[in-house]
Amino acid sequence: MAPTIVVLGGSFAGLQVAHRLLKHTRNTHKDIKVILVSRDSHFFWNLAAVRAVVPGVLKEEQYNLPIEPGFSKYPAENFEFIEGSAEAADLDARTVRVVTATGERSLSYDHLVLGTGSRYMDANSPWKANGSNEEVMASVRATQEKIRAAQHIVIAGAGATGVETAGEIRYEFKDKTVVLLSGNDQILGGDAIAGNAESELLKLGVQVRLNARVKGSQELPDEGAEGGKTEVVLENGEKILTDLYLPTMGVLPNTDYLPAKVLRDDKYVLADEFGRVQNAENVWAAGDILSQPKAGFMIADKQAAGVAKNIDLVLNGKKTTPVKLIPVDVFVCAVGRGRGAGRMGGIKVFSFMVYMIKVKTLGMQMMPGIVDGSSF
Ligand SMILES: Cc1cc2nc3c(=O)[nH]c(=O)nc-3n(C[C@H](O)[C@H](O)[C@H](O)COP(=O)(O)OP(=O)(O)OC[C@H]3O[C@@H](n4cnc5c(N)ncnc54)[C@H](O)[C@@H]3O)c2cc1C
Repeated sequence: MAPTIVVLGGSFAGLQVAHRLLKHTRNTHKDIKVILVSRDSHFFWNLAAVRAVVPGVLKEEQYNLPIEPGFSKYPAENFEFIEGSAEAADLDARTVRVVTATGERSLSYDHLVLGTGSRYMDANSPWKANGSNEEVMASVRATQEKIRAAQHIVIAGAGATGVETAGEIRYEFKDKTVVLLSGNDQILGGDAIAGNAESELLKLGVQVRLNARVKGSQELPDEGAEGGKTEVVLENGEKILTDLYLPTMGVLPNTDYLPAKVLRDDKYVLADEFGRVQNAENVWAAGDILSQPKAGFMIADKQAAGVAKNIDLVLNGKKTTPVKLIPVDVFVCAVGRGRGAGRMGGIKVFSFMVYMIKVKTLGMQMMPGIVDGSSF
């Protein structure tokens, strides 16, 4: 029987593993069957989420492409796409229970690839795909409308997503007040580029509040002078009244369907240098589900390539090789549509280079090649 490889998650990691197996492994082991399971029928280019939420700037097809047509070139007997959610995995019996819009399926596998990434704690946030495509796009559109209507916006969490969102909104709307709350005494967790990014934000007119950690928030009832506004309460007791509160903090791994024995204490997946999941057989992982050495699409990219190669080696009876990661830590942050801050390892990248690398397109030109596999 053809070996079946079930790949969970239709984002950076999952799409690449599926394409690489279908393009390369099919040549050496012709009879494989790849089943790609994704909650989202589309690939959502989350790097562009921070610009997508600004009304009128991007078109949906620039950051949201259907997955299935990208695989239409492969023979039907080698590939199946299932729009559904993995709800349970029995790693001893080698089965995954998948829930779709029309029912439930139990998938048997020879190899299982975990690429279900992570999500933001606020389930309705538009920053990462977290649900069906209708839900993801509804969240983006709703945020656009809220930003359009708001005069005063509070963004909590001064990591890359918060910094980039603040910059994008203020770049487009000079008449709106945008307040960025950082829980620490520096933005971006005190990264070496924090000072540059902060001065770019200030130039755009973003109000940056340091040591302003949020304790809670509540939407006020519609009636009354403050109707429809949100009250944001800081840990020091200060209350900020705003038209729109956008939290960007708190990321959780999408591992609820996995047994505890393959998870670390922080609920991310435990894998070795080969991308092989510990305490299970023939299970592999790549991308934000590991968030090791950290979460990032360039790391997901390398891990996906390494996992696809190792599955290929195993299917051909050969020894696996360690996954090769990028040799330097690259961190590039857009601040509005004109400028940004970045570094490669410890070396500062000039704003113009940051513009060319990230700010200009937020990488959206790479998306079609990942969806149709021509990049691999
Ligand atoms: C605003 C923003 C900007 C970013 N900028 C950068 C950057 O400049 N550089 C960089 O390196 N990285 C950046 N990143 C991080 C990068 O985008 C992630 O590292 C990348 O998304 C990881 O991809 P992934 O495939 O591991 O998982 P994810 O993108 O998290 O996708 C997981 C997929 O699995 C699906 N899924 C989840 N659970 C299930 C389930 N049970 N069953 C089926 N499907 C499921 C989800 O719907 C989703 O489609 C940024 C992220 C954001 C949000």
